[in-house]
Amino acid sequence: MKDYFVEIFTGGKSLIIGMLVTLREFFRPVVTVQYPRETLPLSPNYRGHTYLVRDEDKPLKHRCISCKMCERECPSDCISLRGEKREGVKGLVLVSYQLDFTKCSLCGTCVEVCPTDALDYSNEYRQVGFRREDFHYDLLAMVEEEK
Ligand code: SF4
Ligand code: SF4
Repeated sequence: MKDYFVEIFTGGKSLIIGMLVTLREFFRPVVTVQYPRETLPLSPNYRGHTYLVRDEDKPLKHRCISCKMCERECPSDCISLRGEKREGVKGLVLVSYQLDFTKCSLCGTCVEVCPTDALDYSNEYRQVGFRREDFHYDLLAMVEEEK
């Protein structure tokens, strides 16, 4: 009989403690937002997939010189790019820059090793897809689309 009342007392006490926690949180400021109707500003340190920085001062609107440093240093082997020689143009002209974002760990090596600051992190976070290929990005085409 004694155990029966101890159990009721313990259960009641735990219920009251739980209700007090709920009541306290009820009067605290709301810290969540109703995404996607509301969004919060991104942290300056946020890293989305890399992209070729657009530079209006360059004839090709980007700073990549096709040196392949990023491709060589990427630990996940997710960069594949190609440059070609064109008549009358000094150095190589970038003709393809593919990023396989499914393998990217966002380690930042490619951004750090680039000698011309041609790469940066995007602010993109709404990435959805049904196939792996949906996360294969053509970074050169992205720069050209902005033209
Ligand atoms: S951030 Fe790292 S893993 Fe991703 S592409 Fe650059 S070097 Fe490769
Ligand atoms: S390291 Fe920079 S300049 Fe060199 S290929 Fe990569 S993005 Fe282009």
